[in-house]
Amino acid sequence: MDFDALFNEQLDRLKADGNYRYFAELERKCGKFPRAASHDDNGVRDVTVWCSNDYLGMGQHPKVIDAMCEAVRNSGTGAGGTRNISGTNHDHLRLEEELADLHGKEAALLFTSGYVSNWSALSCLGSRLENCVILSDSGNHASMIEGIRHSKAHKIIWKHNDVADLRSHLARLPADIPKIVAFESVYSMDGDIAPIREIVEAAEEFGAMTYIDEVHAVGMYGPRGGGVAEREGLMDRITLIEGTLGKAYGCVGGYITGSAALCDFIRSFASGFIFTTALPPAVAVAARTSIAHLKSSEMERAGQRRQVARLRAALDREGIPHMKNDSHIVPVMIGDPVKTRMLADYLMDQWGIYVQPINYPTVPKGTERLRFTPSPLHTDEDIDYLVSALSVLWRQCALAHAVA
Ligand SMILES: *Cc1c(COP(=O)(O)O)cnc(C)c1O
Repeated sequence: MDFDALFNEQLDRLKADGNYRYFAELERKCGKFPRAASHDDNGVRDVTVWCSNDYLGMGQHPKVIDAMCEAVRNSGTGAGGTRNISGTNHDHLRLEEELADLHGKEAALLFTSGYVSNWSALSCLGSRLENCVILSDSGNHASMIEGIRHSKAHKIIWKHNDVADLRSHLARLPADIPKIVAFESVYSMDGDIAPIREIVEAAEEFGAMTYIDEVHAVGMYGPRGGGVAEREGLMDRITLIEGTLGKAYGCVGGYITGSAALCDFIRSFASGFIFTTALPPAVAVAARTSIAHLKSSEMERAGQRRQVARLRAALDREGIPHMKNDSHIVPVMIGDPVKTRMLADYLMDQWGIYVQPINYPTVPKGTERLRFTPSPLHTDEDIDYLVSALSVLWRQCALAHAVA
């Protein structure tokens, strides 16, 4: 059997649709963010990264770097085992305490990534709670969708951010079965924010537990970076808060926080927690340093808000349409995978601006876009340069009518 032919057949179809993914080969340079070196067939050049999830540049923060280097010198590189068999390090527990404190919860549990935390927690809850029904927002991330699917629990998909739809589903379910309402705070592609209070009220009314993914909010929202639920004063009313250490905190890893019983339950039964090597202790130390810093420092959050507002205003001045939302995510809609890729290529090749084209299946077909994430480290000049590049391209490509 010619397996490569089978692989290539599907890859060719992906290419024909314009949905084949080309990764930019970057070389991050410590202290230079958002600048990075970009490698391609023509060699190496400096580019400005406009789509990083290292939203606040914490991945290059001197305090975080120093803490990680020192921890490697102290503890070495790897954890040396799964959490169960010799891999639990003092630094993991200190980080879990820091995370529980961040969200005002009794306990926290670390995972190797945010993806793994969603996948593991939801598949564990959905499969272990008898007759459990999971009510999942239609915009939820792949990691939640896959976790729910793997749980084999009955799943109901409610209309994105539509609390009336959620309520109508909740009302039809028997009162005495366990229900989980799973949703995100900041949705990463449209940058819209869930009506958390209304969702929590609906869940409370029908006795459902709430599961929120704050991956695109932790570090950036709330007075201590506890996320949108912290900003809205709702953390104590949410059963489980999930987050990542890989985005605004600039490291890697994921976590859940909740009651001691909830975390002990998942610790004891979730395969994705148990059967994998624990995070390196140095990563735990770096993440804790980053979290602790952002608990007390408002400078990064204020800088991000300022540059997000500045980019939006500059786009408005040039008549470049972008999706309005209340978050730090600035989507510029193109609506066609080939055009989106072409624009991204021009920006990279002619202007040294790197923004990854976002296509299906990350977003629905016909909503392909460029997604900009201004950080506190993008300067006013970076923003002016980006917007002048976009406005030149806009005129060259006569895109205005193709835009949603
Ligand atoms: C990125 C992402 C995750 C996964 O987090 P990682 O730490 O990158 O694995 C989970 N949920 C959402 C909404 C995300 O965007």
